Amino acid sequence: KLSDRLQLLLEQVPQGSRLADIGSDHALLPVAAVQSGIAPAAIAGEVNPGPYDAALRGVAEAGLGGQITVRRGDGLEVLEPGEADCITIAGMGGSLIAAILERGRKLGKLAGVKTLALQPNVGEDILRRWLLDNGWVLVSEHILEEDGKRYEILTAVPEDAEAKRTNEQLYSEYALAGGKVVCDQALLLQMGPWLLQAPNEVFAAKWQGEIAKLEGILSSLSRSELEAAEEKRSKIRLQIKRITEVL
Ligand code: SAM
Repeated sequence: KLSDRLQLLLEQVPQGSRLADIGSDHALLPVAAVQSGIAPAAIAGEVNPGPYDAALRGVAEAGLGGQITVRRGDGLEVLEPGEADCITIAGMGGSLIAAILERGRKLGKLAGVKTLALQPNVGEDILRRWLLDNGWVLVSEHILEEDGKRYEILTAVPEDAEAKRTNEQLYSEYALAGGKVVCDQALLLQMGPWLLQAPNEVFAAKWQGEIAKLEGILSSLSRSELEAAEEKRSKIRLQIKRITEVL
């Protein structure tokens, strides 16, 4: 059985997709995608020898060697252009996922890809920034908690595809609380435009936790009389205010 995290990621893969799961480790996601009939075929990419062997084993044990190809290589290098409709990348930092996508884009590996389903462990804002800068529109965002950890899942489609909103609509400043509070682009990139519009308990807990962290930093800075510390304090106070206002 898949973890809740990978199950939710799998649910973002459109029916009938030729799937490429990059950084696949045990190939759990491609195996589940093919077994459930979501993907007729899949590619599991891995750069490291241990996880690559684990992926080969996972596919062989599932008896899916005919449908799932395991390839060793860095990021999207393992793909031929046009080979995949949907790319999943999960369980890495947002900056690593963005770097993999950027290299792949330069190599032309994103041509023809219709869906990116991504699960960054941290650095979600960096990944949202990359998507925004490269013409991918978020169509959904999810946040869940499993085994005491929080995970976000971001799903994006090319800008000209049938997105529910344009990037301009998603990231334009918008007013909350009857126009009293304005949420700007920087905060939207951090918090997530879809998550912010339909916050659940996990989302609220994440940002309460961020506020608590910032307050901790604030009190550790409070004894310093240096001018730089004062500047830092006021930046942190502003950030706390902005988060509190939109929660
Ligand atoms: N995707 C699986 C999941 O979410 O459960 C496995 C996540 S695991 C923590 C991250 C995997 O990404 C590791 O197996 C690592 O070898 C692989 N990885 C890291 N950088 C990579 C890259 N540039 N290209 C391909 N795989 C990479």
